[in-house]
Amino acid sequence: MLISKRSFIKGVLASFAFFAQGFFNKSWSQSNEILTGEITKIEGDIKMAFTLPALPYADTALEPHITAKTLSFHHGKHHNAYVVNLNKLVEGTDLANKSLEEIMKATAGNAEKAGIFNNAAQVWNHTFYWHSMTANGGGKPDGALAKKIDEDFGSFDAFKEQFKNAGATQFGSGWAWLVLNPKGKLEVVKTPNAECPLTKGSIPLLTMDVWEHAYYIDFQNRRPDYIDTFLNNLVNWKFAAENLTKASNKAAA
Ligand code: FE
Repeated sequence: MLISKRSFIKGVLASFAFFAQGFFNKSWSQSNEILTGEITKIEGDIKMAFTLPALPYADTALEPHITAKTLSFHHGKHHNAYVVNLNKLVEGTDLANKSLEEIMKATAGNAEKAGIFNNAAQVWNHTFYWHSMTANGGGKPDGALAKKIDEDFGSFDAFKEQFKNAGATQFGSGWAWLVLNPKGKLEVVKTPNAECPLTKGSIPLLTMDVWEHAYYIDFQNRRPDYIDTFLNNLVNWKFAAENLTKASNKAAA
């Protein structure tokens, strides 16, 4: 009877051990699933890291005005460096899953986050700049954009003078922009370094990079010649017009 009891107790213990083993195996399995989930999430984060967008045209498309040598350095080295730096700076932070625009708005004007802002904004600005140019561009816009330029600047020539002046007088590095300001008017603005009008409530329609790396190989120190070339031969008015339409639709919604 005693043996039976011992056998019973052993049996109970064995059952418990078996059950316990099963339980811990299950727990381990669940932990492993959680771990797998975390790995998937991490992989997801890696997939969500910012990548260098391809140029919207061949690197020879803007020749002879902007050479493939300039575009390959500007896009492949400068733009790419901003992407690489941004990914390193936001990795493991609460900004890692945010969009580029969200990162820019969250860090603008914060001296402690200047590195993140500068790289994020430079990624955005350059992508916008590539689209602001096109092969056989230049000339004048038409349609609603032409009408609004006449209304808000007085004439296309008046816009052109303001835009040229903004690019030429931006001391050091920066950008010249055509924007739709918060009052619904077109405006030419210039920004230093990486700054972008998007963080001040304006909607960019067009931009021109006036950092030296944008023109030095092709124009050396002749920034005004680069600006004239941008306006006469490269500016993508179709892109600017699409941005105005999108902004108008958004405002009407
Ligand atoms: Fe640039």
